[in-house]
Amino acid sequence: MQSAISEPVPTTGAATGKYGRLKNFIDGRFLASASTRSIPVISPLDGALLAEMPCSAAADLDAAVQSARAAFPRWSRMPIKERVQVFFRYKYLLEKNLQELAALVSEENGKTMGEAIAEIEKCIELTEFATSLPQLVTGEVLEVSKGVECRTEHVALGVVASIVPFNFPAMVPNWTIPNALALGNCMILKPSEKVPLSVTRIALLLKEAGLPDGVFNIVNGDREIVEAICDHPGIEAVSFVGSTKIAKLVYQRSTANLKRCLALGGAKNHLLVLPDAKPDMTAQNVAASMSGCAGQRCMAASAMVAVGDVDAIIEKICAEARKIIPGTNLGAVIDKTAKERIIRYITEAEQQGAKILVDGRGVTVPGKENGTYVGPTVIDHVTPDMAIAKDEVFGPVISILRVDTLDEALAIENASPYGNAASVFTQNGGYARYVIDRASAGMVGINVGVPVPREPFSFGGWNESKFGVGDITGKSSIEFWTRLKKSTVKWNPEAGINWMS
Ligand code: NAD
Repeated sequence: MQSAISEPVPTTGAATGKYGRLKNFIDGRFLASASTRSIPVISPLDGALLAEMPCSAAADLDAAVQSARAAFPRWSRMPIKERVQVFFRYKYLLEKNLQELAALVSEENGKTMGEAIAEIEKCIELTEFATSLPQLVTGEVLEVSKGVECRTEHVALGVVASIVPFNFPAMVPNWTIPNALALGNCMILKPSEKVPLSVTRIALLLKEAGLPDGVFNIVNGDREIVEAICDHPGIEAVSFVGSTKIAKLVYQRSTANLKRCLALGGAKNHLLVLPDAKPDMTAQNVAASMSGCAGQRCMAASAMVAVGDVDAIIEKICAEARKIIPGTNLGAVIDKTAKERIIRYITEAEQQGAKILVDGRGVTVPGKENGTYVGPTVIDHVTPDMAIAKDEVFGPVISILRVDTLDEALAIENASPYGNAASVFTQNGGYARYVIDRASAGMVGINVGVPVPREPFSFGGWNESKFGVGDITGKSSIEFWTRLKKSTVKWNPEAGINWMS
């Protein structure tokens, strides 16, 4: 695989790691970037240098856009039933290469092998949905006056861009690739500079599945290339997934350039635990939600609002958290900066009076001393004014806030500027409905710690967790990746002109 995704001879004097200096994927080929600037790609598992990622320049993006624009007429005119054949084959290739892809995801992102396997399984499910798109885009037709028909068709936009974050190196790209391409678009994907390897392998699988050259391209890079994407006149639409700060910038810049944009941002998800919640199930869900993927999920539980006396459940949550062992069933956080940020939040909360029940600071994994691990952390008596209660911590940490009533719990949830997910743990259907109606979040869970809607339901938050209209996956994404063509048709020209015809 190395020769396919990297240059055989490193172009920098420094060591470039196991995969060498990466190339962009343009017009079905791996091409070296015009830029000499690069960023090291480090494995969070053990600190090993994996690769050098080139910070591509505008010229690289231009080449990719040209290739995508050249591929667009043929690809978009192909019937959708033919286009999705590529994705039937791609789905099979994902299944066939599942272990190898998962190993790469784990190596570059730091998540456990089990989590990486689940991520590839999710890619398979997303692709399966794309193969059903012919059934969902049939359009409408109606005889609107005598002999006159109106019909609508979903038409591809052209060249689109997908800018993705580090936390799901394969899944988030697959939120956009199968749907956007099956609907007839050509794409430029900008991976996260922290995890650029998995998508390179995905590009090869798409090619092997029969995707024509130029339909899918990868341009590696950082801020410079993101800004160039927002400004490029050859790109019609931009989808972005990442932090709220950058989502806002990308949304503002690309829409100012009159592009369609859907930008998903960060999150602060609240789990509301009521005294009637089932203790074991609740504790397992809370612990899994806050620690899965080392807490680096935009759907992770970050704050638990304890309503009334739930001390027995909190004890069980601590017991569950103590079973989570860094380096065994808990992966690493993405890098040293992230580790330091998470520890800073914990320490600051402690200094302000919060009580650390389970402490994940000071963790090292024997044999992986350069890995960036933080242990599971449970913090009680956090108050709403503390930074740890308000900010996205993005680590395996749960802050417990104590209130007396469900309305007080909802007030805390509603006050957050984010709005990705919220869940309630209760056995009372009336309380559950009360929370569904009042939570200010796009995705709500009842007795579910990570309420990710599975296909064909769409994924997307509210408030500062998403800018733009519609959702990024499922049926809702059809509206983002296509525009409607309306035609009015009359095949009986001998008929008289009637109302507005
Ligand atoms: P990030 O915002 O730092 O980076 C996302 C992308 O933006 C990357 O490709 C990066 O190269 C680019 N970027 C970074 N800084 C930039 C700048 N100054 N100008 C232009 N582009 C820039 O996010 P991340 O750290 O990679 O990912 C974690 C964040 O993503 C978390 O906030 C998480 O909640 C969020 N996320 C949200 C969802 C969702 O569905 N809402 C899903 C996954 C991740």
